[in-house]
Amino acid sequence: MNVGSDQQTPKTHGQASERARFCLKCRYDLKDSTTNRCVECGRTFDPGDDSTFRRKATGPHVRPGNLSRLDWTAISCFSIPYLMLAFMQFTWLVVWFELGRQPIYNNPDPKQVTGVMSRACLFAFETLAWLTLPSLGLCVVVLLVQMVRAFTRYERVKPFVITLFTCIMLFIGSYVLLSLSVQFTKASEWILD
Ligand SMILES: [Zn+2]
Repeated sequence: MNVGSDQQTPKTHGQASERARFCLKCRYDLKDSTTNRCVECGRTFDPGDDSTFRRKATGPHVRPGNLSRLDWTAISCFSIPYLMLAFMQFTWLVVWFELGRQPIYNNPDPKQVTGVMSRACLFAFETLAWLTLPSLGLCVVVLLVQMVRAFTRYERVKPFVITLFTCIMLFIGSYVLLSLSVQFTKASEWILD
């Protein structure tokens, strides 16, 4: 009887701590491996680190959740142009509010606005506009670094492709928003003299 219950205990414990594990590279079942190295291909893994092995033998190779800090850096570079576009409209509304009338092209000139809130918003907008090109440059540099790393590390290919695709979509999105606001809003007409 004792023997039977002894055999049960490690099994139920194992379900919580030793969930299914498969090799990242060859998808070999790592459940019974006694070392932190895949028996099949020799790739090492860390049982405590989810990103070093797979939970399922099938399915996409790497989940979007496996984007590294550098991947997220490249994506977050786009917060600057989007904030800049938002501040363009916001600043115009604040100037309208402080001025008591709608600011139109050259009347008043953005440089001659005196309201405290208007000046603060204009400063924030100019700073963001100034940072837009450097942030896009940083994004390109990080993407290039990730591309090189993807060449040397097999499991980085998929996160790189996801990041690259996301960045391209964000770039197109910001470009479309910019051209729309230049064409259709009075804020850009006033602020971009
Ligand atoms: Zn393997």
